[in-house]
Amino acid sequence: PFITFEGIDGAGKSTQIEALCLFLQQRGTSFERTREPGGTPLGERLREVVLSESMTPETELLVMFAARYEHLHARILPALSAGRWVVCDRFADASYAYQVGGRGVDAGRFTLIERWVLGGVRPDLTFLFDLDPAVAARRLAQTGARGRDRFERLDETFFARVRAAYLERAGREPQRFVVLDATDSPEVLSRRVIAEVQHRWPR
Ligand code: C5P
Repeated sequence: PFITFEGIDGAGKSTQIEALCLFLQQRGTSFERTREPGGTPLGERLREVVLSESMTPETELLVMFAARYEHLHARILPALSAGRWVVCDRFADASYAYQVGGRGVDAGRFTLIERWVLGGVRPDLTFLFDLDPAVAARRLAQTGARGRDRFERLDETFFARVRAAYLERAGREPQRFVVLDATDSPEVLSRRVIAEVQHRWPR
């Protein structure tokens, strides 16, 4: 299985990825944990570029998908073919949410490049941590994480558009997406995540 985690900055994805990976490790499931942008040496370099340089929204989309092509072919697909699970922090849904929803890239252009880069590949399961951007901003301010990169300096109206685009995408693929209320406690959330995985792939 190919499992992805999505949500706006400050929604608490990382804590939940950690919890799922711990669970998989304890039950002896062979998996790879990875992230986007990133996931390969080239992808990590592109991540640094995209997080620090300003560029047009379209360039941003293209760089994200260039990193994604490499990630998919050099890492994700080989792992899945070898029978390993892949747990990924963000994937193509993030490009729809951030570059189309947030930055305003044309959705038709997104669809073209998504088809080209992904072929038919889709995650089997996507957890979307849904959160009000005002709450997310408060969380980030508390942890001192806000402003780590150029995206985290953006305002709440940007993140409101990102959130709406995520929800729109989740609404179109209700079987793939599990939308979780990110204001629930980390313990409640990780129990839901693990229960969903156990339900879909019982052993
Ligand atoms: O999830 P993570 O914190 O690793 O993402 C790094 C930054 O890149 C975040 O600020 C996120 O909002 C941004 N990003 C983006 N477009 C994507 C993926 C991530 O703007 N497609």
